[in-house]
Amino acid sequence: MQRDPGALAAALAQLDRAQLQRVRRVNHARRPHASMIDNSGAPLEFCSNDYLGLARHPAVVRAFVRAAERYGVGSGASHLVTGHGPEHAALEEQVAAYTGRERALCFSSGYLANLGVIDALIERRDQLLQDRLNHASLLDAARLAGATLQRYPHNDALAAERMLSTRTAANTLIATDGVFSMDGDIAPLPALARLASAQNAWLLVDDAHGLGVLGRTGRGTCEHYQLDSNAVPILIGTFGKAFGTCGAFVAGSADLIEFLLQKSRTYIYTTALPPAIAAATRAALELSEAESWRREKVLALVERFRSGALAREIPLTDSTTPIQPVLLGSAARALAVSRALDVRGIRVAAIRPPTVPPGTARLRITFSANHDEAAIDHLVGTLAQALAANPAVA
Ligand SMILES: *Cc1c(COP(=O)(O)O)cnc(C)c1O
Repeated sequence: MQRDPGALAAALAQLDRAQLQRVRRVNHARRPHASMIDNSGAPLEFCSNDYLGLARHPAVVRAFVRAAERYGVGSGASHLVTGHGPEHAALEEQVAAYTGRERALCFSSGYLANLGVIDALIERRDQLLQDRLNHASLLDAARLAGATLQRYPHNDALAAERMLSTRTAANTLIATDGVFSMDGDIAPLPALARLASAQNAWLLVDDAHGLGVLGRTGRGTCEHYQLDSNAVPILIGTFGKAFGTCGAFVAGSADLIEFLLQKSRTYIYTTALPPAIAAATRAALELSEAESWRREKVLALVERFRSGALAREIPLTDSTTPIQPVLLGSAARALAVSRALDVRGIRVAAIRPPTVPPGTARLRITFSANHDEAAIDHLVGTLAQALAANPAVA
């Protein structure tokens, strides 16, 4: 971008013409429970990643407040200086036990975790393979590491294998989302794990959207496929999705974690998470197990949405997770339908390029255990009307 009078304004005008300008809204009236019985007048939201409804859970809030009263708000320093407190240490141990890994390391965000883990493990000449639709933070990590990024077609483990067989690099890392953030579908982890193991490559799974939701006990995509830490040696998770707080972790072998602690720049050179966030996250992890009805409920709501949408001929994908995209193609139509829903008190995000590939603009509808059945039925009816009122233009 040139520092030339008018260059930024011209670029902004161009975004606006293409209907790709992003607009923030100040969300004043967040409903504690997204129920139809709520008469607050606040919109019904179907776009948060708070899948289990833990972000406002009283026990999570209480853990946060108590820890803030005890330790203050800011951690005051990075982990390797004086920022690492008892709540952080306890959270690491809890995450290691929860994920069935030897150790875990907590980062201030998932974005930083992905940058820091890949940058530490991969050097310029190494081979880095990623699914085309991986989260931006995984793709951006390739730039920080200075490695050439090879992107294989979405969920195509055979294509990944072909790319690997021509490799000359000594060290290879394959990275994939567990559940894809804009599509809701699940990565073919068994095939990728076999491939990684046969080629002696690292496999990194970013399970931001699978943890807490998938698998018999909510342990995520690895549990869904019954894959252990040998099959998936590097597991990344975030706390800002199903666990309702913020921050992230990497879990793996003791040596992997010690190496990352020594080398990961986005771990070392940043202020440690507030201890109260660590305390709240510990409470949320416990609740995700103790209140397993939350996982069952959100998955039942997904089923209800899908059968209602099918009956109304709303176009769905194969996703079975709480991320249910409705593909609309053009950015203009996605925006128009999102606005039509908004007028009727329903908030659903229109996702446009560059977040998704050109021509695949969509509504990204997400569900939470805080929704109820009436809210789902209301969404289906209103969405069918909004789609009919805003047909695709040829
Ligand atoms: C949200 C998300 C991240 C980033 O996590 P933050 O903690 O929000 O920075 C990384 N990967 C995936 C797949 C995500 O969905």
